[in-house]
Amino acid sequence: MKKACVIGWPISHSRSPLIHNYWLRLCGIAGEYLRLPVEPANLDQFIANLPRSEFAGCNVTIPHKERAFELVTPADELTKRLDVVNTIYCRDGKLFGTSTDGEGFIANLLANAAQLKLQNEKAVVLGAGGAAMAIAGALLDQGMAEIVVANRTFSRSQQLQEKFGSAIKPAPWENRSDVLADCALLVNATALGMKGQLPLHINLSRLPASSVVTDIVYTPLQTPLLINAAERGNRTVNGLGMLLHQAVRGFELWFGKRPEVTPTLYNLVARDIDPEYAA
Ligand code: NAP
Repeated sequence: MKKACVIGWPISHSRSPLIHNYWLRLCGIAGEYLRLPVEPANLDQFIANLPRSEFAGCNVTIPHKERAFELVTPADELTKRLDVVNTIYCRDGKLFGTSTDGEGFIANLLANAAQLKLQNEKAVVLGAGGAAMAIAGALLDQGMAEIVVANRTFSRSQQLQEKFGSAIKPAPWENRSDVLADCALLVNATALGMKGQLPLHINLSRLPASSVVTDIVYTPLQTPLLINAAERGNRTVNGLGMLLHQAVRGFELWFGKRPEVTPTLYNLVARDIDPEYAA
């Protein structure tokens, strides 16, 4: 039986088992995806033992993404620049790591905002943490001309510019409402608006009606930002699709079959997040 898992500390919140075990059943693969609490003190040993373990690989979540990067070979150019991994897999006894957040973000946008053009356009990204970094890198790979990054801690936006070059334009957090003119895409990649976190305050009056607005926060499924943007007529894309699409590559690497993100899977996970969700 093939196995994979997600490791973190704590780990009880992860919805990855729901996603991967659904795909395993659907594909008729005799396998299992587990949720494993791994303390920071045990991380190095857990990863070192992976090639000899029952697992084909694992997902890595908070707080292990940075340390795990140092323990594996980056599998692609974008991952090398990000300094974090969320997916680890074994090949011939060797451990490789990759970050799938960027491709999950792009796949979700393409699936839900087909009219959106990314090439030679401007995006505004709120946030400069791990997810914002992966998203900025993926958008640049898609040919985005300019990404304005507004983050509470300005130096983190500057670090993003150092990493990806002059197409990244750091903007002060206080100016986040002023930089929205001309942008084709607005992304919330901060934790603001998430259940239990502070709300995101932003004035959308300068945002073009044609802009797509996406929030990578997916609890709640429709954040106040998305509700506000939809009310003024902007196309919106929520963050649950990113979570589903970023899981595709891990499943393929561990279990050898590329799974699909379908409405049935979306509804399954949406109901787990919000029991009152109705498709
Ligand atoms: P992270 O590295 O900890 O970054 C958090 C970001 O939020 C930073 O930019 C931080 O700004 C900002 N922030 C936090 N509190 C703030 C506040 N009170 N005011 C202004 N900004 C604040 O986390 P991450 O991994 O990038 O994740 C960010 C969010 O995305 C989380 O809610 C996470 O659950 C979600 N996420 C979703 C997916 C998905 O698949 N949909 C994938 C990854 C992450 P500073 O730099 O100033 O601290």
